Amino acid sequence: MTAHSNVYPTKALQDLDAAHHWHPFSDMKSLNAEGTRIITSADGVWLRDSEGKKILDGMAGLWCVQVGHGRTEIADAVHKQMVELSYYNTFFKTTHPPAVALSEKLASLAPAHINRVFYCSSGSEANDTVFRMVRTYWDKLGKPDKKGIIGRWNGYHGSTLAGTSLGGMKAMHAQGDLPIPGVYHIDQPYWFGEGHEMDPDEFGIFTARKLEQAIDEIGEDKIAAFIAEPVQGAGGVIIPPDSYWPEIRRILKERDILFVSDEVICGFGRMGEWFGSGYYGMEPDLMPIAKGLTSGYLPMGGVMVSDRVAEGLMLAGGEFYHGYTYSGHPACAAAALANLEIIEREGLVGRVKNDIGPYLKERWLKLAGHPLVGEARMTGLLGALELVPNKTNPHKPFRDAGTAGTLCRDISFENGMVMRAVRDSMIISPPLVLTHEEADLLVKTVEKTLDDTFQVLKQDGLLG
Ligand SMILES: *Cc1c(COP(=O)(O)O)cnc(C)c1O
Repeated sequence: MTAHSNVYPTKALQDLDAAHHWHPFSDMKSLNAEGTRIITSADGVWLRDSEGKKILDGMAGLWCVQVGHGRTEIADAVHKQMVELSYYNTFFKTTHPPAVALSEKLASLAPAHINRVFYCSSGSEANDTVFRMVRTYWDKLGKPDKKGIIGRWNGYHGSTLAGTSLGGMKAMHAQGDLPIPGVYHIDQPYWFGEGHEMDPDEFGIFTARKLEQAIDEIGEDKIAAFIAEPVQGAGGVIIPPDSYWPEIRRILKERDILFVSDEVICGFGRMGEWFGSGYYGMEPDLMPIAKGLTSGYLPMGGVMVSDRVAEGLMLAGGEFYHGYTYSGHPACAAAALANLEIIEREGLVGRVKNDIGPYLKERWLKLAGHPLVGEARMTGLLGALELVPNKTNPHKPFRDAGTAGTLCRDISFENGMVMRAVRDSMIISPPLVLTHEEADLLVKTVEKTLDDTFQVLKQDGLLG
């Protein structure tokens, strides 16, 4: 069986999947009863399922397929690398050409004060690396009490122990008795959901100052770092008010703690810049990366390390006892290099900033006129629609949170497009190669999906 010649009947695959495959972030009891959808091949922004149905991939896989599906150029680069050197470690005074070339490439794309990268295989591992790195940094500087890390409620930093702890998903914390001690959370800059009683900019300042209050309450001498996504992705594409990041910048400037910009979604062109922190004029000390680094062709993540942190960690010498068997894996590095080459050659970062980004945004924001939509927002190629039961009172949520979102997501799939639901907001993050025609089709499909969802909710008496 190959990707494009699936010979198994859908039902047989679903039954085997239900019997043996435990899915991430899934209610396995209800999923097994319902049956999974089987994706068999993909090209550009299009997926194909085992029934032959074509589906527009509005989520770029899982926020990662920047260059679109089916790029043989990346497959060829990986094949060539695997034939030459499929694997060697980077632990014991050894390296290999793809790891060297990728490191140099990433350093050239990062801001001037960031020149090194530590490799791993995912965004979660990147944040576990961050966790140990920031604490070790302050130990090295002779400040062993600076161990606290501040994250944000509803932030997402992965699902390993440190990733879950740094993130602010309460339902995740409840499974495994997390967070790890010494991790604190402050409020998120989610104006539509939590701040509408204030003017957006006033709310941006108000939530930014939660950082100042937290540092001052706990004590600057006890805080190692603040970690945040430039735009919260998995939390529901929370685009902060314009006043937010400049105020955070002021607070960080006045206090001696490290700033970690989680670039796992916002990096590699998603926001029309190479990194989301660049979009907001921030200067991070550490940048976890993954997803768009390889466009998902192979798993790879990393932590981009500033000169300040690198020099601190090297103080007085000594080993940083941390690494993964697959740190800098040659085939993954080859995939990343081929992916970055495509992003550069096709000018995809500039395209998001000046072409497809504004083009889609103009059309997406008009969806705010739909009776089911309380707010439409978009930056770069990250968009959200807030579904509401009654537009005349838009900040009043649905009684049973998540029902409308899940319904809308399922209808979207039926209508031939992947849109993700976060509670009752609908999220898109399409590949950066989306054409104007595909963008038009995307918006048209969303309109139909909103109409269909509205009808069902009305019939079921869930509006008003
Ligand atoms: C997806 C994500 C992660 C975790 O990455 P994995 O590769 O799934 O481990 C971390 N941070 C952010 C911002 C993410 O979106």
